[in-house]
Amino acid sequence: MKLQNNKMRLIAAIVAAVGVVSLASTAAAAGVAWTYTGSTGPSHWNHLDPVNYAVCADGTAQSPINVRNPIEKALTNLKFNYGTSEAGIFNNGHTVEAEPLGSPTETLTIGKTVYPFLQFHFHAPSEHELNGLHFPLEIHFVHKTEDNKIAVVGVFVKAGKTNKDWSPFTAKITSATDVAEDTAVELDWAKLLPKNPQTIRYDGSLTTPGCTEGVKWNLFTHPITMSRAQISKFLEAYSGNNRPVQPLHGRKILIDSTISK
Ligand SMILES: [Zn+2]
Repeated sequence: MKLQNNKMRLIAAIVAAVGVVSLASTAAAAGVAWTYTGSTGPSHWNHLDPVNYAVCADGTAQSPINVRNPIEKALTNLKFNYGTSEAGIFNNGHTVEAEPLGSPTETLTIGKTVYPFLQFHFHAPSEHELNGLHFPLEIHFVHKTEDNKIAVVGVFVKAGKTNKDWSPFTAKITSATDVAEDTAVELDWAKLLPKNPQTIRYDGSLTTPGCTEGVKWNLFTHPITMSRAQISKFLEAYSGNNRPVQPLHGRKILIDSTISK
């Protein structure tokens, strides 16, 4: 009887161990196990997939950062070729996104590079800090060329007047499914951006695993405004989905000195 019990315990232990191993490998393979808190939070992302997420811990050009003392430089304005189109809103398990449906034509030009627009999504509170301070929200407009050059445009949001241009998105943010086509609205993408074109620029990374570096970051210095009711819709969907700021490692932060209106 005693022997039987020990044998049973041994079998249970083996089953448990195998179970843990297969769970861990499944999570790593799928790349979906990461979170913003606890044992799968930002300081553990590299352990969840030691090959593909290694740069999250080892990288030297990671995002977000605390922006302070940027260097003034005459920069050419970002050129947004954004129009009005049908947008699909969806929840990806970490944030809510909107992407142009059909055959998107929206692009962003920086210098000589034309980046097709892929989607925007949000973080609450902001991921980047300005002089150590967070905004309630930060929206990321993600652009990518066919040869995988990535440019992200960050827009800070502060509380104030209702922003009608954002209403089609904020109205659907809590009901969106994981299928973009399920929640289609019309968005005037250009009107979602700040009117003042001044930006801060630096070289960084994606702020979610695998934390890929080589990302051109462009942060609007002027926030857009949304009402507290609109901001609370975002927070109802996700709150605390911001990666902490990362070391600068000597990177230069530039701010456009040619403020045109
Ligand atoms: Zn983001």
